Amino acid sequence: MIKGKNALVTGSTSGIGLGIARALAGAGANIMLNGFGDAKAIEQLQAGLAAESKVKVGFSGADLSRPEQIRDLVAAATRELGGVDILVNNAGIQHTAPVDEFPEDRWDAILAINLSGCFHAIKAVLPQMKSRNWGRIINIASTHGLVASVHKSAYIAAKHGVLGLTKAVALETARTGITCNAICPGWVLTPLVQKQIDDRAAREGIPIERASIELLAEKQPSLEFATPEQIGGLAVFLCSEASAQMRGAAVPVDGGWVAQ
Ligand code: NAD
Repeated sequence: MIKGKNALVTGSTSGIGLGIARALAGAGANIMLNGFGDAKAIEQLQAGLAAESKVKVGFSGADLSRPEQIRDLVAAATRELGGVDILVNNAGIQHTAPVDEFPEDRWDAILAINLSGCFHAIKAVLPQMKSRNWGRIINIASTHGLVASVHKSAYIAAKHGVLGLTKAVALETARTGITCNAICPGWVLTPLVQKQIDDRAAREGIPIERASIELLAEKQPSLEFATPEQIGGLAVFLCSEASAQMRGAAVPVDGGWVAQ
């Protein structure tokens, strides 16, 4: 089902997005990578992924906070791969601060990238998915789309919004071959979370390892990080025929975080 399909994965130069891109490429999908990072390292990533999975791999450095660049990204993926059958809205950023001290520019950036970016990408790909009557839209939300924590107001507002958007799109496409679902990861050890561990270690004057265990113990009953490979595996499932009647679902991969 996935072999020969074309997938656009936003924010796929690192972390969870890269794990999803690898998994989809491993299942035979051509991939449009997107994100920021060192140009040479991205070139190597692109070539390595193409060689190991024998699929086409494109790249665009489009900034997901800019609607016109998102439209250009979808156009580039369509041109270079031949279409977009699978859209994974994964690009995201974080900032932590109490609400009354939350920098307004960080609020705007988080809402723009983590929420509005999903809308603009979905709007841009839906017409071609409708014309083929097949598509898979996977939004990477978070446990923070389902429950809250302190000091993450913008992120939590955006991720709750992503789950609302997922349901709305799922309803509008319910009688088509297009599905829209969300994945809600708990803690996954990526640069985004490493920064929170480093900040905690510095704040509390404790070693990184201890800060990492404390971070898990606070929220994630398994006391283990979920991995980009596990999220990638779920994304592959959500692209399969077995998932064709999953519509508007929010699937946690969180070591039991939201079971509490
Ligand atoms: P990461 O920092 O490792 O990767 C983020 C990716 O997004 C990178 O490729 C980066 O270049 C890209 N990116 C950032 N800003 C961008 C922009 N303006 N335009 C285009 N690309 C941009 O982070 P991650 O942990 O892999 O997070 C990926 C997604 O998973 C995010 O949506 C995040 O909210 C979500 N998530 C992460 C965790 C976790 O524990 N790591 C948990 C729940 C949800």
